[in-house]
Amino acid sequence: MRWSQMHVPTLRDDPAEADAAGHRLLLRAGYVRRLAAGHYSLLPLAVRVRAKIMAIVRSEMDAMGAQEMLLPALHPAEPWRRSGRWELMGQEMFRLHDRRGADHALGMTHEEIFATVAREIGSYRRLPQQWYQFQTKFRDEPRPKGGLMRTREFTMKDAYSFDLDRDGLDASFAAYHAAYTRIFERLGIPALPVEASSGTMGGAGSTEFMCPAEVGEDLIVHSPACGYAANVERATSRLPEADDGPGLAAPEPFDTPGVRTIGDLAAGFGAQAAADRQIKTLVYVLDGRLTLVLLRGDHALNEQKLVDATGAAELRPAHPDEIKESLGAFPGSLGAVGVTGPPVLADEALRGRRAMVTGANIDDVHLRGVDVERDIAVGTWADLREVAAGEPCVRCGEPLLVERAIEVGHIFKLGDRYARALGAEVLGPDGERVPLVMGSYGIGIERAMATIVEVHHDDRGIVWPVAVAPFTVAVVLAQPGDAEVTAAGESLYAALGAAGVEVVIDDRDERAGVKFRDAELTGIPYRVTVGRRGLADGTAEITARATGDTVKAPLDEVVARLR
Ligand code: ATP
Ligand code: MG
Ligand code: MG
Ligand code: MG
Repeated sequence: MRWSQMHVPTLRDDPAEADAAGHRLLLRAGYVRRLAAGHYSLLPLAVRVRAKIMAIVRSEMDAMGAQEMLLPALHPAEPWRRSGRWELMGQEMFRLHDRRGADHALGMTHEEIFATVAREIGSYRRLPQQWYQFQTKFRDEPRPKGGLMRTREFTMKDAYSFDLDRDGLDASFAAYHAAYTRIFERLGIPALPVEASSGTMGGAGSTEFMCPAEVGEDLIVHSPACGYAANVERATSRLPEADDGPGLAAPEPFDTPGVRTIGDLAAGFGAQAAADRQIKTLVYVLDGRLTLVLLRGDHALNEQKLVDATGAAELRPAHPDEIKESLGAFPGSLGAVGVTGPPVLADEALRGRRAMVTGANIDDVHLRGVDVERDIAVGTWADLREVAAGEPCVRCGEPLLVERAIEVGHIFKLGDRYARALGAEVLGPDGERVPLVMGSYGIGIERAMATIVEVHHDDRGIVWPVAVAPFTVAVVLAQPGDAEVTAAGESLYAALGAAGVEVVIDDRDERAGVKFRDAELTGIPYRVTVGRRGLADGTAEITARATGDTVKAPLDEVVARLR
C-alpha cells in the first residue's frame, strides 16, 4: 500500500464532539466518519483492523469446531412472534413493512433464525452442533454514543450451540468461555468474565466479558482477592444456603400492605416496565439497613416516577430535574433511585452484616420487615458505590471493587425456550422427539475495535497491538524528492512485502514531521525511516510505536528484524 494513494483523512486537532479515546482517536486518525448518530462509515484503515479482529475471532471459532454460516439480516415477523420477542423487544427493534404490508424486522440478534435452521438437524447423533456467523445487527439504541462503542448497526460474531441436554449445554458453554478468553487475550483486551443477567434472552445464566475502562457503561463488582466478579445487576452475596435458615428469598409476611417484593415496588414505576423486567434491582444491606437501588432499563417507560422521598409507599410523578438530582453521581444511561429502610433481614445469617444482593428477577428478592411508609428515603448511587468499594463482601470476605467496564462479549445458556417455540427438535435416544438445548454467544466487532483503542493509546495516538494493526510497518521516506532515499525505501518496501510483512510506504510529498505524526497517530507498530543521514552509513532507523525506542539497522538487516 502507498500512503499517497490511501484515503486516511487525519485531523490535526482533536474533534470537539469526542471525549473517549476510542472515539476521538478513530476520528482523528482517519479511521471512521460519522454519518448520523449511531451510524459510522469505516474507512480503509478501519476495514483492515476489522478484518484482523474478525480473523482472530474466526480462527478461535473454527478451532473449537464451529461452522460459519450467514443468515439473513432482514427477518419476517413470524419467528419473532413465535418466540414472544416480537413484543418483548419493544422499541429497540427496527420494524418495517414490505410492499404487501407484511411485518419485518432488521435482525438485532439471531436465536429465532438459527433455531429455524436447526429444525433439520434430525437426530441426537448429530449433536452437538456449533454454528456462527458475522452479521450486521440493527438496534434502535435510545442513546447511541461514543463512536463505534454503541451504534445502531454493528457487526456481531454470534454463535449458537445445540445440545441434547443441559450437560451438553454446560460443555458447549465452557468451550465458548475458553475460546472467548483466548480471543480477548489475542485482541489485547483485558476482559474479565463476570456473572451477568440475561435480559431479554432469558435462560439459565450468562457471563459477560468486561473490559475495565472509565468510559464503560456498565458497572462491575469484583474482588481480585478471590476472583469473584459480577455485573452490579447481578452481584450476589453468599445468599444463605437452605440450612442457613431463611434467607432473602424466603417469603415472609410484610409490614406494608401491597408491598411484598421489590417487584411490587418497581411495579409503581410502570406496569409495563416491570413486566418486561426492565427495572433491575440492586439491594444493599448496610449496617442492617436496606438500601434499594432500582435501575431503569433502556425501555422503562417512566422517567416520570420516583419513590416519594418523604416516605409514601406510592410512587408519584417527579420532575425530570428532581430525578437527576436524586440520581446524584450515577453516570451512564441508567437511572437509579435509592431507598433506604430500617433493618429488614431478620435472619441471623445477614443481620448486622454488609451484603450486596441483586436479583435479575425482581420478584426473587423479598422484603421483610420493611416499613416503607415510615422509612423510605432517597439515597444516591455515589453513596452506595463508596460504601461498596470499602466493604468486604460476604462472598469471599475481601474488599470488593466497583468499576466501570465495557461489555465486549456476552455468552448465554438459553435452554430449550427457542427450540420449543420454533419447533427445533431432534429424535432422542429413546426415539422421542426432544427440543434442542441452546446457548448463544456474542462479540461486537467494532466495539472491540474501539475498546482496543481505549486500552492501547497514548498522547500521540493509537498504539495497536501487532495482531490487530492495519499495517505492521510504515516505511517513511524522509526526503521523498531524493532519488537515493526513494530507491532505498522502495526496495525495503518491496522486500518487506515479499517477506510477508504487512507494510505501507509513506511516499507522500510531505515533511518528515508530518509523516512521523501520522504514523504515530494511526498507531502502526513499527516505523522504518529512510533518510539521507542514515543512508550515508548504510542504515535505516526502526522505531517501535509502543516504546518510542529507535534503533539503527543496516539496510540489509531491516527485513530480518521485522519479520
Ligand atoms: P449493551 O448492554 O452494551 O447494550 P447488550 O447486552 O445489549 O449490550 P448483547 O445482546 O449481549 O449486547 O450482544 C452481544 C455483544 O454485542 C455485546 O457484548 C457487545 O459487544 C455488542 N453490542 C451490543 N450492542 C451494541 C451496539 N449498540 N453497538 C456495538 N456493539 C454492540
Ligand atoms: Mg443493549
Ligand atoms: Mg449488556
Ligand atoms: Mg449483553
